[in-house]
Amino acid sequence: MIIRKSFKYRLRPNRKQAELCSQFAGACRWIYNRGLDQRKEAWEKEHRSIGLYDQNIELVKLKADPKTAWLKEVHSQVLQQALGDLHSAYQHFFRRVKNGEKPGYPRFRVRGERDSFRFPQGFKLSGERVYLPKIGWVRFRSSRPIEGEIKQVTVLREGDHWYVSFSCEIQAEDQPFATSPSTIGIDVGLENFAVIASELGIDEVSNPRFLQRDLSHLRYLSRQVSKKQKGSKSWKEAKRGLAAFHAKIRARRTDFLHKLSTQLVKSHDLIVVESLKIQSMLMNAPKSLARAISDAGWGQFLRFLHYKCEYFCKRLLEAGEWFPSTKQCHRCGSKQEMALSDRRYVCSCGVDIHRDHNSALLLRSVGTTGKKACGAAFV
Ligand SMILES: [Zn+2]
Repeated sequence: MIIRKSFKYRLRPNRKQAELCSQFAGACRWIYNRGLDQRKEAWEKEHRSIGLYDQNIELVKLKADPKTAWLKEVHSQVLQQALGDLHSAYQHFFRRVKNGEKPGYPRFRVRGERDSFRFPQGFKLSGERVYLPKIGWVRFRSSRPIEGEIKQVTVLREGDHWYVSFSCEIQAEDQPFATSPSTIGIDVGLENFAVIASELGIDEVSNPRFLQRDLSHLRYLSRQVSKKQKGSKSWKEAKRGLAAFHAKIRARRTDFLHKLSTQLVKSHDLIVVESLKIQSMLMNAPKSLARAISDAGWGQFLRFLHYKCEYFCKRLLEAGEWFPSTKQCHRCGSKQEMALSDRRYVCSCGVDIHRDHNSALLLRSVGTTGKKACGAAFV
C-alpha cells in the first residue's frame, strides 16, 4: 500500500527570496485567472471548451510576447502546474455536475488568498535547506524528519509567513492494527457535527447548541450596521460590536472543538477519519451564515486531531479518496448506491441503521481489521 503524506515546515527566505516567492505566486495567480477567463468566455460565447494542451501552448507564446515576457522570470513548470490546477478544478466541477452535486464553478484567485505555487521536480534537499529552481537554496525550520519519497514541493503563504510542504509517498505493509486496543471511526456530517463509533457503540455529537440563538443576535447586529450611515461614528461602533460578537462565537466554537478533540485523542489509540469528505463538504457548502459558522469547524477539528494525535503519540488514519464510506455495509462489506435522500442504510445481511452510523462503523472497521481503505494514510 502506498501512503501519501505531507510534511509542512515554516520557510525562512531572505528578503530577495521572499520577493521571488511573492512574484512566483502572483504569476501563478495571473496565469490561472487568465486561463479561467478564457475557458469561461469560450464556453459562454461559442460553447467551445479549451483544454490544458491548448493553454500550455499559449503559455509559450505569451513568454515570447514582449508584453508578457516577465513570465519568463518564473520557472516554467510552476506556471504549467497552475494551468494543471485549473484543469483539475474543471474536472472536479464536471464530475460534480455529473453526480448531480452542487457544482461550484471554479473561482478566480484573489491576492493574499491561498498564495501558492508548486514544483513537480527540480527541487533538492540538503539538511534544513531546500533548493527551489530559480529561487535558490531556502532555509526552513525542520520540526520532524521527512519520510518516503518526495513527489512534489508546494510553497504557500499563510498570514505573513511562507511555508514549504513536501508531498511524499511511503511504501507500507498492509497489516491489521491489532496493537490498538481502542479504535474509533468518526463520520462528520450535517445532521450531527460528528457520529463516533467506538467499541461501546455509537455516539452522536450534535452541533454546538448556541448556534441558533447566536444567529438571531448576529442578524440583529448586522441590521444595526446596515441601518447606520456608512462611515459615521455610530456605524463604526456597530461594526465593532458585530466583529466582537463574531470573535466571541469563534472562540466558543474553538473551545468546543478543543474539548471534543482532546477527549477523543486521550481516550482512544487509533482514530479513523475521512478527511477528503470534510474537504468536499467545505467546498460545496452553501454560503449562508449558519453554514459558514458550523462548517468551518470541521477543518479545524481535523487539524486539532492531527496535532493532538502527534502530541499524545496516538494514531490518526485517513481513509483514501475512493473509500466508499456511504456505499458500503460495515458488517458484510457489500456495496450499494445511496442517494443523498436515503437516510438509512438497509442491507440484506440484516443491517438497518442510520447512514451516518454505518459510515462511522465502517471507518472504525478499517482500523480494527486493517482492511484496505483505498490508499488510507496515517497522518
Ligand atoms: Zn451488509
